[in-house]
Amino acid sequence: MNRHELFEKTDEVLQEKIAEFREAEARRIAAIYEKLPRLKEIDEELRKNMSRFTAFAFSGDRSEEAFNRFRKTSLDLQKERAEILSEAGLPSNACEIRHRCEKCKDRGYTDKGLCECFKKELSALTLDSSGLSSDYKNKTFDSFSLSYYKNPADREKMELTLGYAKKYVRDFAKKKENLLFMGRSGSGKTFLSCAIGKACAEQGNYVCYVTAQNMISEFEAEKFGKGGKSGDTERFFESDLLIIDDLGSEFSTQFSESVIYNVVNSRLNSGSPMIISTNYRPEELSDFYHERLVSRLLNEFLTPVFADVDVRELKKLGRA
Ligand SMILES: [Zn+2]
Repeated sequence: MNRHELFEKTDEVLQEKIAEFREAEARRIAAIYEKLPRLKEIDEELRKNMSRFTAFAFSGDRSEEAFNRFRKTSLDLQKERAEILSEAGLPSNACEIRHRCEKCKDRGYTDKGLCECFKKELSALTLDSSGLSSDYKNKTFDSFSLSYYKNPADREKMELTLGYAKKYVRDFAKKKENLLFMGRSGSGKTFLSCAIGKACAEQGNYVCYVTAQNMISEFEAEKFGKGGKSGDTERFFESDLLIIDDLGSEFSTQFSESVIYNVVNSRLNSGSPMIISTNYRPEELSDFYHERLVSRLLNEFLTPVFADVDVRELKKLGRA
């Protein structure tokens, strides 16, 4: 989904939930009326009184006597209604349809921009369409365990990197930095990039996670018409955060390199942040990629340090 589709879908989901909420409200009020039928009569009389008053106000008859009659009818009915409700132990607004979100009165936005209710749906959908949700559900900051790093020096490195990752999320809105995670396979790069991605999505950012190989396959499908849905690759450019996992594991061709360069370059130019992880060391990157890409990666990305430990292997051996 691109950003526009994501907003449309969010609105659709929200409207469905609001409609559901209103139906539940109508059922709740109907149940009150059933128990206290006089309340229903009063509410109907109040409505009739109101519409008669509106007609009166436009009729040109502005006599004070008539006006007072409407007023008294309304006040008497409201008083009776308040008494019935209070006797039944119900709040004074028990027969009014409430808003699902009182903050924005179900409009989805406030003076300050998008309302939290909208952002909440948006972030849930973002997460679903980010590529992160299915395999990476459990990869969060809370479940990132430092206990796998037995060596104190390794643990210290990872503590710093974890702290840095959390700060990255806190400062995401203002800093928009690029991160290059380099380290051996199993050292926690994917885990941390997913944790960052999830946390950023939960803040309402449009996050996109993809492996380098899958990203290239999507561009290939789009270019060579292998069933790719045109427009899907837009998200690699327009997402608020793009996570490219496992750079260097892709089948390398001139096309794959130009795709990676094109995405990285255009995001750097537009100031859109990325997190890229790779098993390669800096000098190995130069063997694998053209210098123009390597220099952008090494000069414009921050490189938090990862411990030289394969956590996956330790887990398998039962030593973690
Ligand atoms: Zn709201």
